[in-house]
Amino acid sequence: AKQLGRNNAQRYCATQTETTRQRVKLENALRHAISNEALDVWFQPQVDLQSGELIGFEALCRWTDPDHGTIPPDVFIPLAENNGMIVPLGELVLRKSCAQIRHWREAGFIPPRVAINVSGRQLRRLDFLGALCTILEQEQCRPEWIEIEVTESDILKDAEPAIATLHGIREMGIALSLDDFGTGFSSLSYLKRLPINTLKIDRSFIDGLPGDANDRAIVQAILAMGRSLGIQVLAEGVENPAQVAALRLMGCCTAQGYHFGRPALADTHRDRLACA
Ligand code: C2E
Ligand code: CA
Ligand code: CA
Ligand code: CA
Repeated sequence: AKQLGRNNAQRYCATQTETTRQRVKLENALRHAISNEALDVWFQPQVDLQSGELIGFEALCRWTDPDHGTIPPDVFIPLAENNGMIVPLGELVLRKSCAQIRHWREAGFIPPRVAINVSGRQLRRLDFLGALCTILEQEQCRPEWIEIEVTESDILKDAEPAIATLHGIREMGIALSLDDFGTGFSSLSYLKRLPINTLKIDRSFIDGLPGDANDRAIVQAILAMGRSLGIQVLAEGVENPAQVAALRLMGCCTAQGYHFGRPALADTHRDRLACA
């Protein structure tokens, strides 16, 4: 048994080493991709639920590595969060998104509003607002053409400095949305301290619509709260007409999800844009 135990331990160590080696390789590849600006930004439509009209996009980061193939954001974003690379990664996405808005404008379109994900680690950097200003200036992008998405759990990790930056963002004239709403453990008293314009209802609550009574109650409660606090509400992960009908009936105004369009390269969406 002793022998067996040692063999198992050795095997375990070997797998651990292998896993660590893989992670280090992936980290190096990601560092490389960031410094070569080899990450792509895809765009997913957001629509007005009553008219069906496009109101903007969410910018979503994509990574295809020559050796590792396409790595999903659910893998490389947490990796980047852990090792701090989320800061240059987030800045790259911000810059590429603003550059895309400029390209659309130069091509004669009315610039659509683009919502960009920003992590807590970015928000807590003292130079975040300065970097944001520089990017907007360089890309001749007006603050009202972008929106910043943050998650409640990310903010509450260390609320004070994050909330201070959120106020700075709003003072610049940039709208804020609270992502994945309902999945965190935040107290509602925090919500009124956050200067946000939009709550994004997490996809997990939209999944069960219209059948699931709990999901219906939660979505209704979020909508009621949004109305009484004067905060817009957007439903995420809307995939089918039954969900659309249920959300309309409940008075939800805006939505995003595969039903309205998948994340895709900017050019894919050209024919949905309005001409200037
Ligand atoms: P998220 O911010 O909640 O983004 C929405 C995710 O839901 C995206 O996954 C999107 O492709 C997916 N989605 C959209 N509509 C539907 C639908 O109808 N059904 C289903 N099943 N899924 C839908 P994606 O692109 O894989 O991104 C995953 C997460 O990675 C994002 O979740 C976000 O937290 C993070 N992420 C992506 N890009 C960035 C970035 O540039 N910066 C940061 N900090 N995080 C990012
Ligand atoms: Ca988001
Ligand atoms: Ca989300
Ligand atoms: Ca998320």
